[in-house]
Amino acid sequence: SIQQSAQFEGFARIFGVETEYGVSVTGAKKPVDAGQVAMTMFRPIVSRARSTNTYLTNGSRLYLDVGSHPEYATAEARSPLDALAQDLAGERIMIRLAHQAQEQLRTAGYGDALRVHVFKNNADSAGHSFGCHENYLVRRFVSLEQVEHELLPFLITRQLYTGAGRVTESGFEITQRADYLDEAVSSATTRSRPMVNTRDEPHADPEEFRRLHVIIGDSNRSQWATWMKLAVTHLVLCVIEEAARLGVPSGFEAFNLADPGEANRAVSRDLTCQHTQLQLADTGNAAATMSALDIQRGYFTLVERFFHDHRDAMLAAMPSHHADSPWDHGVEQALSEWRRVLDVLEAGHVTDLADRVDWIAKWRLFNALRARKGELSHARLEQLDMDYHDIANGTLYDSLLRRNAILQLVDDEAATQALHEPPSNTRAVLRGHFVQAALDAGAQFSCDWTRLTLTVPQHREAVILDPFNATPNADYDRLLQALQ
Ligand code: ATP
Ligand code: MG
Ligand code: MG
Repeated sequence: SIQQSAQFEGFARIFGVETEYGVSVTGAKKPVDAGQVAMTMFRPIVSRARSTNTYLTNGSRLYLDVGSHPEYATAEARSPLDALAQDLAGERIMIRLAHQAQEQLRTAGYGDALRVHVFKNNADSAGHSFGCHENYLVRRFVSLEQVEHELLPFLITRQLYTGAGRVTESGFEITQRADYLDEAVSSATTRSRPMVNTRDEPHADPEEFRRLHVIIGDSNRSQWATWMKLAVTHLVLCVIEEAARLGVPSGFEAFNLADPGEANRAVSRDLTCQHTQLQLADTGNAAATMSALDIQRGYFTLVERFFHDHRDAMLAAMPSHHADSPWDHGVEQALSEWRRVLDVLEAGHVTDLADRVDWIAKWRLFNALRARKGELSHARLEQLDMDYHDIANGTLYDSLLRRNAILQLVDDEAATQALHEPPSNTRAVLRGHFVQAALDAGAQFSCDWTRLTLTVPQHREAVILDPFNATPNADYDRLLQALQ
């Protein structure tokens, strides 16, 4: 369609964030496991949707596969700020389900000391790893080779400011999952734990688009970190796309890493962010090695120059509807934040970023406790680490928020609003309104990202293939008529 090809020319983006949560339970009088707790959490969903897999009125997807890792996948958003608000709505939904389950289990004789914990992190104490996936719509002409050679070094080194930090056997690390991710780019399943998954499910016109599925990334509690990883990755993708469209080098090929898995582990372990040198692939680079920080500086410099040359198109592609917020603009604000972060890290003033970066916020908390109470045991550190990520019963992160010690980009009111309001400028708004109308009518329905299906009282279907299109088509109109 004309609309789609107009988007295709520009720098418009679709963002989506999937977050898997970890569940555990403490204080129970009789045995109960995480799987049971997760099922109890999903009881209200099952009674409404007859399934543990459903779409909600804000256009998002909520589901529980086997096991105990409930997942929330945000609706399609066109800006990092909208995606962040949708992700926070997901946290609220999980918190509500956890508190309901806690009440139910207490009433069912498990005792009043029972607590349900829901962790927004990526590893449990038994060593299982689970994910936070970022989804970016990219133009089809971007090759998988470009993703591996030109994007991956950025994804690995951005963890300096997007890492969530973790207490491990061998000490404190910047990221949650360095030891779990190996193969760089893979279409295989979770068994091989790739950093970028290329499974070809664009949820859009496959001739025009790919859905880039980024696996290497921690779940963030810091709102800034979620916003920043989406915003900055978008900027880097703009450069890669334009270079691919013109058939010219992006400049990022100079950062191609010899061994991404090894580099990833090295970045995670170097809390100075600049001592460790990463081996570059032998592709005629001037240098054989670079530090993670130098690689980030290299990306920043090229992106800044690109923005200078494409300013109007890049700004026009990022819709604005929270003009009163400095975070509304995912382009200029992201560049200035990025510059500042690199300056601060280069100056070695890591703790100046404790109000933004999860691993640094956590690290500073631990150090403050050590200063007050003396050395902390490994078990205690692990417990504090988990508390920071526990959205249902944790206290550390909330205390940071209350003291304004960590940035809040989306206020409580806006996050609450996102529980029932999909992003207004993507097809999510069609899905959300359909779900609302179907629930109101007591109808039976199902969805996936590109299709809405009504099964009872009658069978009707609408395809919503273009994620940028928020305007109802004829099938959609008939679908809603059937619900009146
Ligand atoms: P799995 O959880 O099994 O890995 P998946 O990653 O394919 O499955 P979902 O968990 O359903 O899929 O999440 C899909 C995510 O992709 C959502 O956040 C959604 O908003 C986003 N999304 C949907 N369509 C597009 C698109 N065309 N481009 C980019 N992102 C999209
Ligand atoms: Mg998913
Ligand atoms: Mg996924």
